[in-house]
Amino acid sequence: MSLTIREFTFNAFAENTYVVHDETKEGVIIDPGCESQEERKQLQKYVESLDLNIKYILNTHCHIDHVLGNSFAKSTFNGMLAIPEGEVAGLNSVPLYAPMYGVNNYEASEPDHLIKQNEVISFGKTKFKVLFVPGHSEGHVAFYHESEKVCFSGDVLFKESIGRTDLPGGNHETLEKSIKEVMYQLPPDTIIYCGHGETTTIHHEKQYNPFVR
Ligand SMILES: [Zn+2]
Repeated sequence: MSLTIREFTFNAFAENTYVVHDETKEGVIIDPGCESQEERKQLQKYVESLDLNIKYILNTHCHIDHVLGNSFAKSTFNGMLAIPEGEVAGLNSVPLYAPMYGVNNYEASEPDHLIKQNEVISFGKTKFKVLFVPGHSEGHVAFYHESEKVCFSGDVLFKESIGRTDLPGGNHETLEKSIKEVMYQLPPDTIIYCGHGETTTIHHEKQYNPFVR
């Protein structure tokens, strides 16, 4: 089995959106941040050119930059929108603060599934383990695949950086605990697909991350 991973960087926050599928052509979209028509076309073109069947639209957490394309992705690809159970309040608050970030065209969408801690998300022949990694936000999760050695961890850990904790639901001590007790327990060669910026590995962060070692 092997996973195909495609990264897009979308919206004014330079948020990374991932499309992941396996040989069955069933797949998921993680954190669809596509906001402009151009970005949405780009995503749609990719999914359609490979004839993918999108089973889930997954959110690692529900800050505005990670959910701007939820509604578009749900209606275009007919996938189920699955968000962490601890992020419902976060998702519901997006329309309230969107104008503060200059976003006036946000379309809200209802989740179809609430992801629980330690749940397994299945599509095609693939199973993602859900890791509960709060701190950047209250209900933040990461999606981990052990044998493929990949983890999609949103805004928990970045290459030589960490997620901010000054937004509502953020807590630095909690984030540090999530990184040390969950992320840093993954095998060192696990590739971390971040919500912003380049990919990294657990090995690299343990050695060079200036915030949490
Ligand atoms: Zn965030």
